[in-house]
Amino acid sequence: MPLRCQTPVEVSRNGLRAVIASIILFAFLGFTVCNLGAEPARGRPRPEAAFPAKVTLAGVNYTDAKAAFSRLGYKAVWDAKTQQLNVGTAAGPLVFRVDSREADVLGLRTFLGEPAVLYRTALYLATVDLERLVLPILRPDRNTPRPLRVIMIDAGHGGNDSGTLSADEKLQEKTFTLDVARRFQRLLAGGDWRVVMTRTDDRYIALPERAEMANAAKADLFISIHFNAVPNGSAVRGTETYVLTPRFQRSTSSAKTSAEDKVNQPGNRHDAWSAVLGYHMHRQLLAKLKTEDRGLKRARFAVLRLVDCPGVLVEAGYLSNPGEAKRIADADYRGDIAEALASAVNGYAASLATATRATSK
Ligand SMILES: [Zn+2]
Repeated sequence: MPLRCQTPVEVSRNGLRAVIASIILFAFLGFTVCNLGAEPARGRPRPEAAFPAKVTLAGVNYTDAKAAFSRLGYKAVWDAKTQQLNVGTAAGPLVFRVDSREADVLGLRTFLGEPAVLYRTALYLATVDLERLVLPILRPDRNTPRPLRVIMIDAGHGGNDSGTLSADEKLQEKTFTLDVARRFQRLLAGGDWRVVMTRTDDRYIALPERAEMANAAKADLFISIHFNAVPNGSAVRGTETYVLTPRFQRSTSSAKTSAEDKVNQPGNRHDAWSAVLGYHMHRQLLAKLKTEDRGLKRARFAVLRLVDCPGVLVEAGYLSNPGEAKRIADADYRGDIAEALASAVNGYAASLATATRATSK
């Protein structure tokens, strides 16, 4: 159309069309360029930087694990053959496997909230698992330091609540938890802390009351002592250590998510330090007792939910297993359990000290 025939309105309309066309073209180019970054041509190696650091899959937020560990200076190597990510650290290796909730963290069998997933060709971990379990254990110096002035020891069960029983029903959990708690208390005496007990005799205390006692004492650490049992399962043996399940995750024994997972519990304020405590407890118990590693697990036990400090619940062994029950019935063995718990508190205190030093630098 000749320019001279155009009315001012037509000029402006054409200009508008050109602007819209340009916007569409740039948007298309921009989209293409962005996509080229994420989807390189087939057959070419995918550059690491092309993977998004975070993705949301089926409502769960995941983080590229290799990128996260590399950022902290660790060597993370993806093994496509075994479908696992191996991370080397001075404290030991970490191994994460595709589609598995079970990981090896510094030599310990550790249960994640969600299985590791393969996204494109990289292994992703649930962001909550990284931030509230794995990284706090690996780098306690990055956690916010907190005091350790009062330690609450909780001997499980008591009174008319016997707890678990040995296969012959002659041994009661409540007797051994109290004995170990007393030994543990003696070992902690003389430290830079005050030690308090939920019970010092054979009495019943409801679970919420135990947490209230810890909160009233302004406990900085809560350690609950238990012994396990399974019905008709004499072959089951070993040591389990529990910390509180973080919000938005399911507990280790839950196959599915539930409404309870979304509730923020008082204990969730302390997930990072609970993970550190759980790690030290599990490590020391296995090292001292040489029992089967049944894992560092997560559960929403009432005492762990309601305490306003880092907390842990240890299931030192199975009373239902005759071999393990015999060991638990031995006073020296219970002394070993108490020593492992005390070593774990010292390990936890050392981790706290690294965090305190890191912030004072
Ligand atoms: Zn128990």
